[in-house]
Formats: sequence, C-alpha cells, structure tokens
Amino acid sequence: MLIRRAEVDGQAPLDVRIDGERIIAVERGLSPSPGEVVIDACGGALLPGLHDHHIHLLALAAAERSVRCGPPHVRSEDELVAALRAAAEREPAEAVIRGVGYHESVAGELDRHVLDRWLPGRAVQIQQRTGALWVVSSAWIERFGVDDPSRGHPPLERDVERRTTGRLYRLDGWVRTLGRPRGAPPSLEAVGVRAARFGVTGLTDATLGNALKELRILERAVRVGELKQRLVVMGWERLPTPRLPGVSLGSVKLVLDEAELFFEAAVSAARVAHARGRTVAIHAVTRTEVVFAAEVFREAGVIPGDRLEHASVAPPEVAALVAELGLTVVTQPHFVRERGDAYRTDVELRDQPWLYRCRGWDALQVPLGGGTDAPFGEPDPWLAMQAAVDRRTESGHVIGPGEALTPERALALFTTPAARPGGTPRRIAPGELADLCLLDRPWRLARARLASEDVRATILGGLVTWDREAGS
Ligand SMILES: [Zn+2]
Repeated sequence: MLIRRAEVDGQAPLDVRIDGERIIAVERGLSPSPGEVVIDACGGALLPGLHDHHIHLLALAAAERSVRCGPPHVRSEDELVAALRAAAEREPAEAVIRGVGYHESVAGELDRHVLDRWLPGRAVQIQQRTGALWVVSSAWIERFGVDDPSRGHPPLERDVERRTTGRLYRLDGWVRTLGRPRGAPPSLEAVGVRAARFGVTGLTDATLGNALKELRILERAVRVGELKQRLVVMGWERLPTPRLPGVSLGSVKLVLDEAELFFEAAVSAARVAHARGRTVAIHAVTRTEVVFAAEVFREAGVIPGDRLEHASVAPPEVAALVAELGLTVVTQPHFVRERGDAYRTDVELRDQPWLYRCRGWDALQVPLGGGTDAPFGEPDPWLAMQAAVDRRTESGHVIGPGEALTPERALALFTTPAARPGGTPRRIAPGELADLCLLDRPWRLARARLASEDVRATILGGLVTWDREAGS
C-alpha cells in the first residue's frame, strides 16, 4: 500500500509505503508499483493509530442495548420512567430491562422499591454511572433466585428489617452473567467498527472481572474480525497468555473502594502479580484511594508499567507521592466535560482544582496516558482530547484551567504504545507497525477542533479497517 501526499510530523507532502504489516519507507515522491493499493491523502495528517488505554468492551457492548439513565440522555424522573417504559413495551414480558449510566441527580437514590413502582412486575437492572452499583427490582431478584445464600450467591445488602434492598455493589461481572441469554457470546462488532471510525487501532480492556471466559470472548471477537484493533486484556492474575496474535495480557487490575480498604490484601495481590511478571493497575478515584494506592505500591514495590487508573483527585502532596514512586497514570479528561457540572456540587471545593489533572502530571514528569473508560465515559477519544485542551464542563464552566494541555499533548495521550501509556508516542517511520489514522485535513486545521469526524481512514497492520468514503 502506498499513502501519497500525506503530512507526517508536520512535513508534507510525504509518501508512506507499507509492506505487509509494517511501514517500509517514508519519503517524498515515491511512485506506485504495479498492483499497489494507493491512497491519496491530499495533504491530510497521517497519525499513529490511537490506543484507548482504558475501556470496558463487554460492558460497552451491553450498554448499546440498554436504556441510558443519566444526563444528557435523561435528566428527570419523568424522562427516565418514560424511557424505561418504552423499552419495556418493546421487549417481551420476560425480558430483563437494562439501564446504564444512572446518576442520582435524575431521581435520587434507587432501591428495588423504586424500580418496582416504575415498572411493576418487570425484571429491571439499572447501573449507576460509576459502574460500582447495580440496582435491581423485586422481579429480578425472584427471577434469578439470588436472595438465597444457600445457592452460593454473594450476600446482598439488606435493610434494618433484613429485607434485600436490591442494591448490588461491585458485582458487575456476576450481574452481567445472570442478565445475558445463555450460549451466544455478545457481539463486539458495533464496538469495533465505531472505534475504527475514531481512528482507534488498539484497546486496553481494563475490566476487573476479566477471567478466562472473558478472555476467550475477546479473543474470539478479534479472530472473527468483530474487533478491528489490537487488544490488551487486563484482569485476573491467573489469566493465561493469549493464544492469538494481536491480543496480549495487560496489568492485573485491583479496585479500591474507600468504604473497604484492606491494605495487607492489596499489597499481597500486587506482590503476587509482580511475581508472575505482571504489572499492576490500581483503580483509585478519591483522594484517599489515590494515597492508599500509592502506599500499596510503596510497600509492594513498583515495576515499570505499574499504573494508577483515573487518579481522579490528586492535590499536590498526593501527586508528589505518585511521582516519587514512578507510577504511570491513565486519566479520563472528558469526565470534566461529562460529569464536571455534578463535580462542581458533589466534590469538595478544595479538591476541585485537582480533578483529572493533566499538565500537573506532566510537570511532575509522571507518565500520562489516556483512556475513555467507555461505557462509563463516551467512547470517542477525540472528545477526551478536546476536554484535555479546554477543560470545560457541559454547561461551559472551566475546571482546573491550569491542567489544560496543548492539542499535541492531548493527542499524545492516545498515541503512546499499549504497554507504556505514558511513554514516547509511536512514530510513523520505516520498521514501525502500519497502525495509522489518516485525517482529511492537515494538523494545523485538525488541532483546532480535535474531532473524530476528521478521521478519513484507519489502517491496522497495513489493512484498512475504516474508510470514510466507502462508509465501512
Ligand atoms: Zn474503568
């Protein structure tokens, strides 16, 4: 394949020749060989394909078939109930009605009684926006017989009268298995196509519950071409090495929950992971969790590639701890846009300037990568780049203006190698893998908008995975 008249690293026009899955030449004035596929870039910027360093693929596929239960999709109880009832009417009576992205600003705290009132007699499951909580209806509890510890189900939250509340914390993997029809693995086709449309050539699935079954589902999705990306799978410490080229094993994921922090357990889990040659990724959102995670790493030791997911609140003294330990941070600046208006009321005032930091991490030389955290954030990395640059909430308030990045730095959050989210961005040079994202305009125009609409073609290992002109 020959990509002609592209802009590479600000230089144009350059021609890029690809042989097999690698770039073999980047020069001026290459002429096409007989039979060679030629793409005329017309001066558009050719970038390394994007890598989303933190995403949850199976949850994203499931979210596509779910009712959106939070802003901007619904903003009031009436709107939410209408959306749920519309879904219930479309589905057969025995179907589970699934909602995602719930936020308390819509209709307050939920429990099974609220869901029973909204959709009497229906099996309903609604996930809170953070992903940590599912709320299920009485019919759901009955359907899956989960109010019966003798069947080996995890204990459920109960009220003072010992009745289940329908609130299931940190049981996402379990809820997902129950809610899915038996047999057929979920299709990741729509997820893979959309990511290719955004110029994404690599994905890191950061799901805590990834075990052998999830690994096999993800491998299959790559093998049959549903996913058109290279894949890194985090999860369980005992996951075997993937059998498929293009799929590799990522960090062992540990999730902290401020309500239940077990220091010894976390340290020993990190040590076990390291002993197996795996890096560790700790999910840490609050100020306390970030400090705790740093202390876990201090005690267990740090190996290159160990990372903090989110590190959402990082005031200077906390950021200094992270920097001192040499940890990588994988951030989600678009939460400033998507959730910023809620943060302005929910997050302590003293912590607000330190939300989803970017430039602050750069200043401390903490390696910084970007991830969408979809479905908990929007899956478009370009929206994350925009938010990293403008730091604006949906209503236009600016959070942490001192944390803003240049468009070039924002792009780099997503062009670093899969195994080093905060490392040196990948290059377009002979010998490199031909994982590429071609824009329809030069970078000087693209940088002013950072829009996924500008992606004209995506190439993975020398094969076109998205071609805007062809619409596929
Ligand atoms: Zn996540």
